[in-house]
Amino acid sequence: MSSLFPALTDSPAERPALRFGERSLTYAELAATAGALAGRIRGAGRVAVWATPTLETAVGVVAALLAGVPAVPLNPKSGDSELGHILRDSEPALVLTAPDSELPAALGDLERVEVDVRDTAQSPVSDVADLARITADSPALVVYTSGTTGPPKGAVIPRRAIAATLDALADAWQWTGDDVLVHALPLFHVHGLILGILGPLRRGGSVRHLGRFTAEGVTQELNEGATMLFGVPTMYHRLAEALPDDPALSKALGRARLLVSGSAALPVHDHERIAAATGRRVIERYGMTETLMNTSVRADGEPRAGTVGVPLPGVELRLVEEDGSAITAYDGESVGEIQVRGPNLFTEYLNRPDATAAAFTGDGWFRTGDMAVRDADGYVRIVGRKATDLIKSGGYKIGAGEIENALLEHPAVREAAVTGEPDDDLGERVVAWIVPADPESPPGAGELADHVAGRLAPHKRPRVVHFLDALPRNDMGKIMKRALKHD
Ligand code: ATP
Ligand code: MG
Repeated sequence: MSSLFPALTDSPAERPALRFGERSLTYAELAATAGALAGRIRGAGRVAVWATPTLETAVGVVAALLAGVPAVPLNPKSGDSELGHILRDSEPALVLTAPDSELPAALGDLERVEVDVRDTAQSPVSDVADLARITADSPALVVYTSGTTGPPKGAVIPRRAIAATLDALADAWQWTGDDVLVHALPLFHVHGLILGILGPLRRGGSVRHLGRFTAEGVTQELNEGATMLFGVPTMYHRLAEALPDDPALSKALGRARLLVSGSAALPVHDHERIAAATGRRVIERYGMTETLMNTSVRADGEPRAGTVGVPLPGVELRLVEEDGSAITAYDGESVGEIQVRGPNLFTEYLNRPDATAAAFTGDGWFRTGDMAVRDADGYVRIVGRKATDLIKSGGYKIGAGEIENALLEHPAVREAAVTGEPDDDLGERVVAWIVPADPESPPGAGELADHVAGRLAPHKRPRVVHFLDALPRNDMGKIMKRALKHD
């Protein structure tokens, strides 16, 4: 197995690698400090990383990868019970933290190792990178799923999957070492950690992490030479809202080579508003903790709102109907579950042979639980999750996303989520949960009915509308539909 980060030894020493706020490391400094830390943790079974958005987290994970020790990123915002679950499940030997981190009681007496990014005292990277012992199948990371649909599961991610997914994205996005990424995502999930940190490092490019996402921070970095922005839909929503009053932002976004969205569906309304104001179309990619990246709109392809693009190189993708048969005609209408196969897949759920077995078909396809259609030319459009976003009403299978997109086009609607609830007559009825733009004057029922009547077939129109102050969302901004309780 060749190194995951050839740039650590091959890049010009002074090339910038990572910057978090005022603190930064060149490739030579990163190689030295991560090499030193790798020497200290080498031989450990697994290490946890207290994944604050800091230089130390990035160095800790790179060190673990150099040492061949699987790393378990911990979400510092997890409650004690979730942390307790993850620690009991993953049994790390120690936890890597930034100096002076405040750690919760849930970490118990787990050994703490402070990451000192100035420490370059020990072995150079070539001595610790025990490449002979590390194979493509070796576990690199154990990343816990977002817990959107149930308790988080630890996905064991092999080195091969990281290399495969990052190289496939490099192909799709024409991603090179000249790219500079603006980053504002958390570092305990695939998006922020594997794409946002390991991606640029594998290419030999650089990362500038904002610490906290702000439109000003994005504007400044894009004006100072950054070329790409990775974000979740809630970030693009905030940019879309800010654009009309912020000409500097629209200029800066217009300058970006690539604006990428993922982790959840990007509302078409936000996509279109950003395109209209900046001349740039956000590129969507679709992935999961278990599969890393599956599809993307390509940088050299046709950008299209509401689609996650085409399968990445090396990824086999099919849509499977309830009876188990694969859909062969792409008609933009036949809905099936996305199943994938390829070098990007995880190995197993830690300690969950039952869940692992249930997740794969006999011939090795991973069942994503996401439902989609494909356009005639193969573009994948996600309809939603089988468990929460597919409403069976009056004999129809209705995707929540299309209805949410229609509601979001109404100027008085800021956020929208659609669910199904039991209905004696229809099986399920369509229910809308709406955050109004102005809480003092939510849109009237008749007004909303007229609005959707112009956009949606009768069976897709919401029967019930609830107004809320905010939608329940997790750290990645994903809507937690399980928490939308019916009265
Ligand atoms: P859990 O598996 O614990 O319930 P989760 O599925 O939210 O949580 P992740 O692995 O972080 O955990 O998220 C993967 C899911 O995110 C995908 O299965 C899909 O439903 C959704 N997703 C990711 N990217 C997109 C996208 N571009 N469009 C729509 N949905 C997306
Ligand atoms: Mg999932």
